[in-house]
Amino acid sequence: MSGPREGMKFWFGMYPSITFADGKCHVIPGFGNTGLFETSEGLVVFDVPIKQNALKTFNEIRNKTDKPVKYLIFSHGHFDHAFGFGPFLEEIREKGWEMPEIIGHENCVRRFNKYKMLEQYHNWINSQQFASVAPKDKTVATVSPEHSLEPTILMIGNEAKHSFNLGGVEFNLFHDKGETDDSIWMWIEEKETICTGDLLLSSFPNIGNPYKVQRYPLDWALALEKMIEKEAKFLIPGHGKFIEGREKVKDALSITSEAMHFVHDEVVKRLNEGKWFEQIYHEMMEIFPDKFKKHHMLSPIYGCYRFAIHATYRLYHGWYNTGNPTDLFPAKSNDIATELLKINDARSYLNHAVSLFEKDNFQLALHIIDIVLKGREKVTDDLYLDALILKSKILKKKATAEPSFIAANIIKNAVNQFKEEINILKQKLVK
Ligand SMILES: [Zn+2]
Repeated sequence: MSGPREGMKFWFGMYPSITFADGKCHVIPGFGNTGLFETSEGLVVFDVPIKQNALKTFNEIRNKTDKPVKYLIFSHGHFDHAFGFGPFLEEIREKGWEMPEIIGHENCVRRFNKYKMLEQYHNWINSQQFASVAPKDKTVATVSPEHSLEPTILMIGNEAKHSFNLGGVEFNLFHDKGETDDSIWMWIEEKETICTGDLLLSSFPNIGNPYKVQRYPLDWALALEKMIEKEAKFLIPGHGKFIEGREKVKDALSITSEAMHFVHDEVVKRLNEGKWFEQIYHEMMEIFPDKFKKHHMLSPIYGCYRFAIHATYRLYHGWYNTGNPTDLFPAKSNDIATELLKINDARSYLNHAVSLFEKDNFQLALHIIDIVLKGREKVTDDLYLDALILKSKILKKKATAEPSFIAANIIKNAVNQFKEEINILKQKLVK
């Protein structure tokens, strides 16, 4: 069985843990995945999952071994890789063990500080990005940045490398930029294993996430090329399926690197041709090669190609992206809509939106409905309600057809907000 739904199951780590190589290496799947390596002197743990998965991952590790954790490595400081450490700390306190070394890049510490500064903001955007799986109680924060675990060994600088030996096994860490500026990946030659963190996923790379800060397409491609050189036999990705077999590992890394190069180079080419974002975006949508579109490693279940175009453009360009001076200091969109409603009444716009909807031209229909919704002052309650209901209906159809978890959640989140507004308006109209 394959397809987006099956893909999401793996994405969320809903598959049994896997033991590989010499029986001392394990993948503990979760949101995200944990790499576990047993040595005669203790354990090396690469990433801990989201806080909500922490106990499950901890218990799975303790079903395999009772050795103490000696090293904990954060592939990066995202909440699904560096915050599910609670049960480990509790165990250390109970047993009176020494704290393990925590390894992270210096930018990981900056990230934790940023999370503390922007806590409410991050909770707000994450409740949208994860709308379909977020706790119902909005007061329950997904992450508490106050409880981050500070690295004890910092990898410093852009070319950072760090190696350590535990129980005779050599672990090699490398820093590269990609999804984040604090990424670390691990190579264990003796076990022929790479742990990639989010530099590799069972999805199109999460680059250009609509809510999140700048990401790095070219550095990402180059990082994957460095990994290919290792000729690994086993690969633990940040999310999704464990990959086994030299050819499969190479294929997963190569196709992802190629796709990153493609998006990067094609956007750069068009920037050099003096094109604005809209033209670049729509041209890029026309030329997306089938070999990427159809590859299981690049299915758009989380990040997607459409977002990657934005990411590359934003890396090199400022916010003025239309080339139209009207957009430099624009009027309020509500005021523009109100003026449009003076030319034609709301009913004619709405009728037109309905006809576009009936021809399955959902996106254009949405633009026209927005004139009615944004021109609220000029629109009667019953017409406004009809417009809201139509928009909601279109968005539901779009959400159902949308493969990207992030894009679908943005849409679903809006539908949920409309639901409330529609109910209030219906009650008001009945009275
Ligand atoms: Zn992740």
